[in-house]
Amino acid sequence: MATDLSIPKNTIAILQKYNFNFQKKFGQNFLIDSHVLDKIIQAADINQEDFVLEIGPGIGTMTQYLCRYAREVAAVEIDKNLIPILNETLSDYQNVEIIHKDILKTDLIHLVQQKNSGKPIKIVANLPYYITTPIIMGLFENHVPAHSITVMVQKEVADRMQAEPGSKDYGALSLAVQYYARPQLVANVPPNCFMPRPNVGSAVIRLTKHQAPPVSVEDESLMFRMIRASFNQRRKTLANGLNNAGNIPASKEQIQKSILSLGVPANIRGEALTLEQFAALSNRIRHIS
Ligand code: SAM
Repeated sequence: MATDLSIPKNTIAILQKYNFNFQKKFGQNFLIDSHVLDKIIQAADINQEDFVLEIGPGIGTMTQYLCRYAREVAAVEIDKNLIPILNETLSDYQNVEIIHKDILKTDLIHLVQQKNSGKPIKIVANLPYYITTPIIMGLFENHVPAHSITVMVQKEVADRMQAEPGSKDYGALSLAVQYYARPQLVANVPPNCFMPRPNVGSAVIRLTKHQAPPVSVEDESLMFRMIRASFNQRRKTLANGLNNAGNIPASKEQIQKSILSLGVPANIRGEALTLEQFAALSNRIRHIS
């Protein structure tokens, strides 16, 4: 019988057995709290029909839980030193494949096709914080078929994902996440639930993918260019931010006219605009060009 890693002393024992050294560059903070693991599994709503992708299994603590609840699990881990450990800690389970790869270089569309006939999967992870945004945006922008993404992230990132217009946390990440999914905070998680302890607070957030985008956008790339341009220059008005960007196909006068046509003041800042208003503005600017 393989070691039950929901018991923290077993985590220490396995790390010692393999003489494992934590790699800061891989964002390695392993979960050692079984209550948090229960909350993640519950929020992800895993059942016997699910194919689950776990990003960064570490020593396999959450993977053991996933294997018990899901039909099949694929766990993608970058650190070669963790692979022999995972082979041992997951040896009781026949429904898991350990994939030694960088998640950012893994063809996930192919994986979903191969393992789940292309049907939507569930994604669960205690993410490496140094690449949270590229991982999440990669999943969305590459249209990886997924019902939901339930992840541990830095608390501050969870706040930004759910932020509403006008708040200090509202920005390009809020709009991008909310365009693709509905964010729900599941739990705040203090540093003492990890080994080693991170020096930031963490939170579990569930992102439930929209079946269809919540707003109608004719040119997604233009809308996201406009969003980035307005938040890159937060202190400027929306009109100046868009005009200075150099990649918005409209003159300053056309931008100003389009902003006014939304029924908002000409000197409004990007941080006050809703997703619907960014979508409407990008549709107007597209028709100018
Ligand atoms: N899931 C484990 C847990 O909760 O205890 C470990 C979580 S730890 C925060 C992040 C994990 O992601 C580490 O195992 C790390 O080696 C792995 N990782 C980091 N960068 C990665 C990448 N680019 N691709 C795949 N795994 C990565």
